[in-house]
This record gives sequence, C-alpha cells and structure tokens, in this order.
Amino acid sequence: MAQKKVVAGKVSHGAKKTGEKKENDKKAAAKKISTSSANQEEMLLQALRGMRDILPDEQPYWERVRRALAHASQEYGFRRIDLPTVEYAHLYLRTVGVGTDIVDKELYLFNTRGGDRVALRPEMTAGLCRAYIEHGMGVLSKPIKLFSIGPVFRYDRPQEGRYREHWQANFDIFGENDPILDAQTIQLAYRVIQQLGLKSIEFQVNSIGTPESRREYEKALTRYLEAQKNKLCQNCRERLVKNPMRILDCKEDKCIQLTAHAPQSLDYLDLESRDHFKHLLEYLDELELPYVINTRLVRGLDYYTKTVFEIISSDSEGKKYALGGGGRYDRLIESLGGEATPAIGFGLGLDRIVLEMKRILVKPYQEPRPRVFLAQLGDMAKKKSLKLFSELEKNGILIAESFGRGSLKSQLRVANRLGVEVTIIIGQKEALDDTAIVKDMVSGTQETVTHERLVDAAKKILKTNQDLKV
Ligand code: AMP
Repeated sequence: MAQKKVVAGKVSHGAKKTGEKKENDKKAAAKKISTSSANQEEMLLQALRGMRDILPDEQPYWERVRRALAHASQEYGFRRIDLPTVEYAHLYLRTVGVGTDIVDKELYLFNTRGGDRVALRPEMTAGLCRAYIEHGMGVLSKPIKLFSIGPVFRYDRPQEGRYREHWQANFDIFGENDPILDAQTIQLAYRVIQQLGLKSIEFQVNSIGTPESRREYEKALTRYLEAQKNKLCQNCRERLVKNPMRILDCKEDKCIQLTAHAPQSLDYLDLESRDHFKHLLEYLDELELPYVINTRLVRGLDYYTKTVFEIISSDSEGKKYALGGGGRYDRLIESLGGEATPAIGFGLGLDRIVLEMKRILVKPYQEPRPRVFLAQLGDMAKKKSLKLFSELEKNGILIAESFGRGSLKSQLRVANRLGVEVTIIIGQKEALDDTAIVKDMVSGTQETVTHERLVDAAKKILKTNQDLKV
C-alpha cells in the first residue's frame, strides 16, 4: 500500500473571530495527530521503501543460489568470513571515496547513542579489508581467499532489480599480483553463473591502470569533457569536478554520445598495467570465456586499480543489466594502514540473479520431500507421537505430521496430498500397547509393529520402493 503523507489541516485566513480561529487550530491539531498516528499504524505494517521480505515461496531460488555459491567457493578454495553490516562511516569515506554516488548520495549514515558516526555497509570490500588488517591476516600463507555473503544498503531510487537493501556474495583474493588470479576470479564468476543455468551472459573487462596512470588519464578525460561541459547533464557537470570517470557510466543519451570519443584509460596505462592486461586477455582467450573489452568500464570507486570487470546479462529486448562486478584493488590495504597487499575480488548481486533465473525459467532448488507421515488419534497417542517423530527423524527418515489436526481423516488427507510412501498411525489402542500401524501407501498393505521395530519397518518399505524404482 502506498505511504500516505501527513497533511495538517490548514487554518482558513478568512477566520474573523479569534474564537473561530482557535477552534480551527484545535481541529487542525487534532486532525494532524490522528492522521499521523493512523499513518504510523499503516507504516508499522509495511517494509521500508526499497526493502523487502524474501518469502518462503521464493526461497527455493535463493537456496539454489546459496548452494551454487557454497559449491564454487569450496571448489576454488575460498574460506567463509562474515562481517558486520555496520562500520564506522569513515571507513567508506576513505575507501569507496568522496565524490562517488555510493558515499555522497546513497550511504545510510547515522549516529549511535554513544555518538559514533556509523554507516550501513554499501558494499563489502571496505569491511573485508578492515577485517583483514584488524586480524593480522597478512601473516597467513598467500593467496588468502575469502568468501562472504550478506545484505548491503544503498539509499538509491528503488525500481525492479534495484533495492535499498540487496544481497551480495563476494569473493576476494589477497596477496597475489599475477594476472592469472584475475583470470581465475573471472572464471569462478563464470562457474557460478553457469551452475545457475544463466545464459546470454557477457563479461566486460577493462583496465584503469595504477593510481599514477589513472591520474594522467583523469586529467586527459577532464580536459576533453571541460571543453564540452555545456552538453553534459546536470549530474555529470557535478561529476566533472568530483569524479570525472563516473561520467562514462552515465545513462543519459547526450552524455553517452559525448563520451563515445573521449580518451580511453587503456591508452594511458603504464608499462606494468599494460603488460598485466595483456596477460589477462591471453588467459581469458585460453579459457574461452565470453568476454568483451569495454573501454568505458571504470567502476567509479576510488580503490580500483588495473583490472575491472562486470558480468552483464541481456534480456530478449537487448536491455542490459549488471549481475555482478569487481576488479583489482592493489593499494587498498596499504592505504588503510596495512602492509602493501595486492588484491582482487568481485560481488554478485543475488537479487538480480534470482530475477534473471525466474525470467529465463531456471528450475529452483527442490527440497527433499518427506516420504513418511505420522498420524495420531487421541491425547495419549498425541503424546507418544511427539517422541516417535524425533526417533524417526534421528534415524534419517524425513517425516511429516499434522499434530494440530484432530481427526484421522483430515490427517490422512494431508498424507495423501504430500504423496508419502508410508503412513504410521497411532490410535488409542496402539498408544496403550506401545505399537503403531505401519501402512505401505504404494501396495496398500499394513502391519502393526512395536515401537522398537518401527524405524526398521518404515525403512524396509522405503527401501523396497526405492529398489522398485531402480
Ligand atoms: P556494484 O559493486 O555496485 O557493481 O554491485 C555489485 C552487484 O550488485 C551489481 O552488479 C548488481 O547486480 C548488484 N546491485 C548493485 N546495486 C544494487 C541494488 N541497489 N539493488 C539490487 N542489486 C544491486
């Protein structure tokens, strides 16, 4: 439901008598209070704009993603790290950089009760580097490969595929300079994408060089754009002062046209960066990955060096959107006060990946279905069935029940709907005898067994059914 705005009742200027005016004021105040409390009631029952619940029905898609990520991180030797969602705001100002949209416009900033200036994380790399230094990970043998997953927050304008809280999985490798690691990182991203059955994916790669060569490039880009400043959109005119490279990301037609012939970062690379990029492309060719060089790709954040890349998906109308992106950040650890440590990483946007899976009808993860149902009749049977449930479950039998339902008929209806192979029934007599009826739902036969024999009896039927299937 759309949020209502609180509109205070206006007092008529034409009110002549003071008594009348006072009365109007009172009414307006009362209206304001009641509207605002009604409004608060309403807001209590809706998630914040741009934030959403991921409901159980959607979870099988997410589960498939989580499994693919866990699998890939294991295959490639990554270890999981979980980081706080809140950090000192200063960390992001120092790393992501002032002048970026993420920091200037989208950061969730607030003061804690203790007076600390903190921010919800708008990305994960900064926190990861903070943790790397704080825990002295530099002494570990290199490369150090870390995997993390969690929500990130950006106060952006929400629309489909763009939320104020979205989920990311990040893979990062510390301690290696070699471009083979850049290629392996891209290979890993491709592996996840492939495992999820996503098609029409393209990797866009570029190099923005070292901070030194980048500075030269930025100067040339600024010179070029300054000369045609009036043709830029208002946002880009501001970017020209704060972060000119970000102009290459602008989606406005006039800015795209204007930057089509702008200087390219590849022409300003120093020898080392050029060599690095050349080797990366050779590795990618060898891997036969679907990549293109996008000379406009700069990824705008301050900390990137050399390789940058994005994973782009296109829909049937050719509309492109990023499912993930990353790059090298060889100077970041050092700039935060750690030892010079080259690093590379990327983030996958999980919400967008799920949207893409749904769009192209990828099958979600299928939960294993219960094969046994436990039904009970009467108070005593109910008490005993709780223990039996745990007994069966401990023996690896996936079991369903409907403890809340009284009638046997309605419980059996549930069992039928679930399509179980075995139904265990404990009636009043069975509860007294410590026995249970075990019914084979496939053959229709049934037998009464003691509680001690129950697990074996159920397993025997399940095994016979399994053997029949093979
Ligand atoms: P970035 O570091 O900004 O490139 O983000 C990495 C990935 O996260 C992007 O490629 C998107 O797939 C995803 N992403 C970024 N911002 C949002 C957002 N506001 N809502 C949903 N997904 C996002």
